[in-house]
Parts: sequence; structure tokens; C-alpha cells
Amino acid sequence: TSFAHFGFDEQLMHQIRKSEYTQPTPIQCQGVPIALSGRDMIGIAKTGSGKTAAFIWPMLVHIMDQKELEPGEGPIAVIVCPTRELCQQIHAECKRFGKAYSLRSVAVYGGGSMWEQAKALQDGAEIVVCTPGRLIDHVKKKATSLQRVTYLVFDEADRMFDMGFEYQVRSIASHVRPDRQTLLFSATFRKKIERLARDILIDPIRVVQ
Ligand code: AMP
Repeated sequence: TSFAHFGFDEQLMHQIRKSEYTQPTPIQCQGVPIALSGRDMIGIAKTGSGKTAAFIWPMLVHIMDQKELEPGEGPIAVIVCPTRELCQQIHAECKRFGKAYSLRSVAVYGGGSMWEQAKALQDGAEIVVCTPGRLIDHVKKKATSLQRVTYLVFDEADRMFDMGFEYQVRSIASHVRPDRQTLLFSATFRKKIERLARDILIDPIRVVQ
């Protein structure tokens, strides 16, 4: 598979070319077409596999379609991950590739300024990258709303569970409309993650790195 097989438009291909990636990684070859098809997905993949781009590229396509169908406020895509560092990394990739369409991304994580994050959320962004507890805090304070979210990603789910975020992860899933597309990434696929997948995904396709 080459990047051309994904059928991305010229704007996105331009950003991918700028990144100087020569070819898609295995998780991208398998995952991108599934995510583009609108199906729910479980990705068993570690850091370094290229998993971030595997959910960001289809996310950008999804957002551009959805923006037209449903103009309004609040993010269209939410990416939930365990740590501030990962949040910042994913946010940087969202900005890099999101440039293709002038999409805005906001990162909200524990330890950062509530006020500054709330202001960024209120200024508007199609993409929110967050740690679970902090997103819930902002939703409770009405700094943002999840009502327009139709693309929901949980990255490093096993690590979020290890850090005690299972309740928050489930709570976020239950507050996003059921007609969403959900992608779940985890380095391991243990019983607890399997149970989560059963509860929050619909007929998912499983991809192993
Ligand atoms: P990730 O597994 O998403 O954390 O990505 C690991 C690293 O691989 C990041 O620095 C990406 O920029 C890079 N990367 C992602 N996709 C590709 C690709 N197709 N070819 C080369 N590097 C890539």
C-alpha cells in the first residue's frame, strides 16, 4: 500500500508529503481504510507503530464531511489519552495535519491552567485532545459540549485503566451520542479492555500491529 491508495485529497497529501514519510506503516495500511469506512475499530498497537496518524488522517476526512452536515459549535472529534505528554504530542500532530483544512485543535490535560484551556475551548476547535478527568471537568463547567462529537478515540486504553481512569473513560463514552464512530487503541488486549470494547464499540473491526 502507498499513501495514494487512501484516496486523500491534495491538501492532506501535501501535508503528508511534507512529513517525509515514505510509506504507510502496517497499522496505517490496515487501519486507515477501516476508519475511513466509518466502522468502529480496535487497534492493538504500541507507540512507534504510527498509530497516531492512523486515527488522525481519517479523523480529518470525517471532520470535513461532518462540518458541512452539521455546522455549529463544540468539537467534532475528541481524542482521549492517559498523559499530558501524549496529549501534547497528539495535539501537535493534529495541528500539523489539520493545517490541510485550517482545522483547530485544543489540548486539555490535568496540570494545565483550567482557565486558559476553557478560553481555548470557547474560542472554538473541531478537535479536542484530552486526558479523561480534565475533559469531564470542562464539560461540567460548560466550557465545552460533547453534543457535536461523532469521532471518538481512546488512545492507550490499557494505560488509562492502569492509571485508574476506567470510570472517566466510560463516563465520556456515555456522554457522546450513540451514532458516533469510536476507535480504541491499546498496547495489550486484556479482559478489562475486551469488556470496555464490548460496552462502547459497535461491531468493531480488530487490527493488530
Ligand atoms: P506513533 O506510533 O503514532 O507514536 O508514531 C511514532 C512516530 O512515527 C512518530 O514520530 C511519527 O511522526 C512517525 N510516523 C508516523 N507515520 C509514519 C510513516 N508512515 N512513516 C514514517 N514515520 C511515521
